[in-house]
Amino acid sequence: MTAQKKRLLTGLKPTGGSLHIGNYFGALKPFLDMYSEYDSVLFLADLHALTTVRSGDELRANSFAIVRDYLAAGFDPSKALLFKQSDVPEHAELAWILECLVTVPFLMQAHAYKDRTAKGEEANAGLFNYPMLMAADIILYDTDIVPVGEDQRQHVEYAREAASKFNNAYGATFKEPQEKILKEVAVVPGTDGRKMSKSYGNTIPLFGTKDEIAKAVMSIVTDSSGERPEHVYAIHKLFRSEDELVNIYEENRGKYKNLKELLIEDIDAFIAPMREKRALITDDVVREVLANGSEKAREIASAKMKEVRQKIGISL
Ligand code: AMP
Repeated sequence: MTAQKKRLLTGLKPTGGSLHIGNYFGALKPFLDMYSEYDSVLFLADLHALTTVRSGDELRANSFAIVRDYLAAGFDPSKALLFKQSDVPEHAELAWILECLVTVPFLMQAHAYKDRTAKGEEANAGLFNYPMLMAADIILYDTDIVPVGEDQRQHVEYAREAASKFNNAYGATFKEPQEKILKEVAVVPGTDGRKMSKSYGNTIPLFGTKDEIAKAVMSIVTDSSGERPEHVYAIHKLFRSEDELVNIYEENRGKYKNLKELLIEDIDAFIAPMREKRALITDDVVREVLANGSEKAREIASAKMKEVRQKIGISL
């Protein structure tokens, strides 16, 4: 008998923006490299997006886009469960039940809420309560592991606390999940050498056309005083082994244009198959993938909620 795989859960927030290669090497690729080792559950966190997105068209477009991104980058829905949170009403139902178990001061400690109010801005009640929606997302599926960055450790602690509160009140029902802290993958530098980030305008788009890639690469800041154009090299080594690069950069010493042209070719060779795949993923394909996943997710979630409703006394 093979040991049962641990269940891993992760949410995709459809809050927009096209992905850049920093997102790919920093987040998407590490996820794609590991998800099939687990019994993975991936969900489109559209209810979470409602704390910030105020346009139906925008939310819809973002939702299609992010699923398309994952599929194009290599996520295989036959190897994991991928569904849309709002298709499984048990998430919102359980969130309410958990909200009734935790206190306001406890939720006031949540980073997202604290950050918002620290800026003197008002938080909507959804933002205030969202740690319990997130807890519901996680514990509904008896999740063992939630991969998160250090900054999101607290979310999993909240889920654990909510599970434990429920279990203490009503008897053992939920598994307490563990965070899997993803070590900071080497930061991908942008065209100016700072961390690649949309807010710095120094990105190379993940699904960009060759022209877009060329434009971004040509804008990489070079410093003629050094041994080699470090910012070009730092990006290049994501796409080619350093053994090869050392020779190439030696042969092209001082020829920055050549090196940038080679980098354009290397990035395009890497991106083109994903870009082409992405273009073939229609809205209907996305709908079908999500509908299939949502059906399976509902089976799991409704079985769990049947038990919950019985225990809390709303099932008569
Ligand atoms: P963001 O859209 O900036 O929140 O990033 C989404 C994910 O991509 C996060 O997991 C980030 O850690 C990762 N990421 C974004 N930019 C970079 C970068 N320049 N290098 C490495 N990872 C990045």
